[in-house]
Amino acid sequence: MNAQIISVCNQKGGVGKTTTCVNLGIGLARAGKKVLVVDGDPQGSLTISLGNPQPDKLPVTLSDMMGKVLMDEPILPGEGILHHPEGVDLMPADIQLSGMEVSLVNAMSRETILRQYLDSVRNQYSHILIDCQPSLGMLTVNALTAANRVLIPVQAEYLPAKGLEQLLSTIGKVRRQINPKLQVDGILLTMVDSRTNFAKDISALLRDTYGSKIRVFGTEIPHSVRAKETSAEGKSIYAHDPGGKVAEAYQNLTKEVLKIEKQREKCKAGIGR
Ligand code: ADP
Ligand code: MG
Repeated sequence: MNAQIISVCNQKGGVGKTTTCVNLGIGLARAGKKVLVVDGDPQGSLTISLGNPQPDKLPVTLSDMMGKVLMDEPILPGEGILHHPEGVDLMPADIQLSGMEVSLVNAMSRETILRQYLDSVRNQYSHILIDCQPSLGMLTVNALTAANRVLIPVQAEYLPAKGLEQLLSTIGKVRRQINPKLQVDGILLTMVDSRTNFAKDISALLRDTYGSKIRVFGTEIPHSVRAKETSAEGKSIYAHDPGGKVAEAYQNLTKEVLKIEKQREKCKAGIGR
């Protein structure tokens, strides 16, 4: 296996990155994929959302693994990886990761430290999702350097235009300078309240502005208190509210994500002939 690596990225906080990592990750696992989710945020929200309420108490986290790469120390198979009952593996993070970000500044090949770590586990998985921190700092650059795909959740509540330009320009820069394999899967509208016209306007605006250049996923994630409850429960929306509309939406997103890679494979095969 050589995993697809998908960074879930937006420098704005509270747009649904972590929720998407949980439910796309477990969605892919439910579709029979071998999935690792990586917490790339020193806040450890993904780690907490997957049932580890105290990330600081974990013996090994992502910063330890990145530290090993920096020190050129060997990484043992499966080292530090946790298993979630719903079938995904997790590389957790805690606040130490923010110290790691600081030490990256003076490191050799500082943009590729996360990629080098993931290279050591990549053959164990079909999909690796990276939950990015809400900034365009060195950890996010590391995530974009390690990935071949990026998914951008955008909250339908606010006009995202300016922040999105900045993010797309960072993605472009990483692609040109470090990681030509990086492709944008698309923009995912989250927390959509279909009762308001505002959400519809934003959706239409995004499709008008970016639709010709970037996919806006056909699936939109509805706003629901049931989704909000899941992070405290340590489980996915499929376990928490199986018949609900958010579970259905994340299932559809999972299908869309799998379809994108099928199409790309077909394209590649066509070119190869
Ligand atoms: P980010 O990782 O971008 O900061 P989160 O995934 O943590 O965003 O989501 C921000 C907040 O919104 C969290 O409290 C989360 O539980 C809540 N949330 C996420 N998705 C939904 C949704 N579809 N409906 C309602 N609340 C949601
Ligand atoms: Mg988050």
